[in-house]
Amino acid sequence: MIYNNEKRFFLKRRDFLKFSAFLASTPVFARKGKINIKLPSKKLTYYHLYGKKKGKKVLIIGGIHGNEVGAYKCASMLKESEIEKGELLIIPRSNFTSILANLRGYNGDMNRKFEYVSKKDPDFYYVETLKELILCYKPDVVISMHDGFGFNIENAKAWGQSIVIDELNYKSFNLYQKALFVKNNANKFLQKKLSIINTKTFSSDIHKEQKKALTAWCLRHNIESYCIEASKQLPTLESKIYTHLVMLREFFKLFEIEIKNIEDMMKNMKKYLNFTPPSLILKINGVKYKISDSKNFVLNDGSFIEVFSDVENGEYLLPLGVNLNWRSFYFSNLTFEVKRDFERFYLINIKRA
Ligand SMILES: [Zn+2]
Repeated sequence: MIYNNEKRFFLKRRDFLKFSAFLASTPVFARKGKINIKLPSKKLTYYHLYGKKKGKKVLIIGGIHGNEVGAYKCASMLKESEIEKGELLIIPRSNFTSILANLRGYNGDMNRKFEYVSKKDPDFYYVETLKELILCYKPDVVISMHDGFGFNIENAKAWGQSIVIDELNYKSFNLYQKALFVKNNANKFLQKKLSIINTKTFSSDIHKEQKKALTAWCLRHNIESYCIEASKQLPTLESKIYTHLVMLREFFKLFEIEIKNIEDMMKNMKKYLNFTPPSLILKINGVKYKISDSKNFVLNDGSFIEVFSDVENGEYLLPLGVNLNWRSFYFSNLTFEVKRDFERFYLINIKRA
């Protein structure tokens, strides 16, 4: 696995840092007698993988909507790809705060912010960094992964189990033709069949909101782009991930990507998913504690806690009843959840003596 590889592609440090100033932080004032905690940074993580043989460049975006677990878990799994041909740039958790909250958009719908996002918006850093990554990487295609509601084939208003295109054709891109290839081939492997949704983003006002979405932004910047949707109503996480992999496998054929272990990912999915409880480090007044189970702490006035967790794999310490955009704050009695993505594993209580 190649992580943030610097040989072939990297976002120049200054570019990456350009928006970092907008990463959520809260002003910290000394507050006598209270406990101060500093949570890990939720910096956007990306993975660049490539094979020996030259192929095309596919950029995969997961987790723009935080409650679409099949989409971001599948994107995260793909970082284990053994690529023989072509390149992948994978951004599994584009909206980590919403993933932790298990909400579509903790700060509103991120997929409506690609035309414009305010600098005051907590999503600003993520939206602008995503755009910067896309423009710097210049992929042959961007695939945005989602789990839609229901099944489009049964209900035209539902978006689940579909490939979403903005137009039949846009500039030189034959969006419908490629979506049809993916649909027809993928459906041979799926019980719940896929359909194609054309939102006619540029030629009509039926789906006005799509003009503000990631795929529309990509197309306007001459980058081919598709949304793929599994269904939230598929019975298991595994069946959602499977639907995504079946669709992606067809896109990979179209864009000359060869992945040695994609069939293994589909057949032995559990091997690629992590079910063990997360552990993390609390550094309390300079002393490190490794935490892997529920725990209570009673601390002296003015204590300082720094938290270290495996953010890249979705692990985080989530304060209950506190604004999730905050990274550093004061409290006197608080409960925290230890989570991996949407899943809560155990609780930590911290209070003042
Ligand atoms: Zn979505």
